[in-house]
Amino acid sequence: MPKALFDSRDLARYRVEDGRGFRLADHDPGDTHEILTKEDAVDLLQAGIRDLAALQERLAAQDRWSLLVVLQAMDAAGKDGTIEHVMSGVNPAGVHVTSFKAPSQEELDHDWMWRHWKALPERGRIGIFNRSHYEEVLVVRVHQELLAAQKLPAGLAGKQVFQERLRDIAAFEDYLARNGTRTVKFFLNLSRAEQKKRFLARIDEPDKNWKFDCGDVRERRHWDAYHEAYEDAIRRTAAPHAPWYVVPADKKWFTRLVVARALVDALERLDLDLPPLTPERLAELAAARVELESER
Ligand code: ATP
Ligand code: MG
Repeated sequence: MPKALFDSRDLARYRVEDGRGFRLADHDPGDTHEILTKEDAVDLLQAGIRDLAALQERLAAQDRWSLLVVLQAMDAAGKDGTIEHVMSGVNPAGVHVTSFKAPSQEELDHDWMWRHWKALPERGRIGIFNRSHYEEVLVVRVHQELLAAQKLPAGLAGKQVFQERLRDIAAFEDYLARNGTRTVKFFLNLSRAEQKKRFLARIDEPDKNWKFDCGDVRERRHWDAYHEAYEDAIRRTAAPHAPWYVVPADKKWFTRLVVARALVDALERLDLDLPPLTPERLAELAAARVELESER
């Protein structure tokens, strides 16, 4: 029996709906919500997965809203494992995961949002962005030479570009909310020390070697610049209809629990009631029953 519950009220300390004054330093990557043990969390995660599966079924049946889930993090924070565990009970037909890598030549021939528009979830679906449009104000901000590859007309790629993109992202998510797509965004907040531990495990343990990418160690050198970029992105794009969750990521079991609960909470905030049965529909159902029963 879990000693403690972990419900929507407990999520508030991780949720950012108003970015003014937001500071990453106020969020502890090692937090596990003092009352929880790993065993409690595993049971609670199972409950969260069941709730999520039931809500996803209603989302699909109602076929009006869709949910966009954005996952952002430094390397080795556990994005892939979080998706795998949290979505394990959900009907795969109702979910679509898109992993955004460095843009292709075709993608660079369009504006930066183009590839993200195309990947948005259909009504009734959950779309997961494993990395997302936020990379445009994260990796591109940290490595500004990437901007040059984007072939913007002269004069449009100046210093102001990242503030403009943050405004555009906020407007994009606002637009989506007004058209039936809710966005919920996660920053898996890993500590620098825990990242080092995980990289070393990937080097030392043969069954983890495949996960090790030497480029990740190069990116780690830019830790502070990334964190400044994340802080600014969260400040400028947190909103009640598109909240950020800053999820402690040093303990994977806790990360998964928070993400599962936050998705349940996001779906519970939507009115997922099925439309009431009309007299016409009831008559149709009755006629179908008569036909089936009269079969021999
Ligand atoms: P994993 O390492 O677990 O497979 P990952 O998300 O790190 O997951 P990689 O293929 O290692 O996947 O990395 C994808 C890379 O693509 C990241 O370094 C990311 O910063 C980069 N990327 C994503 N979007 C953009 C973008 N818009 N512009 C430039 N680089 C991008
Ligand atoms: Mg990687």
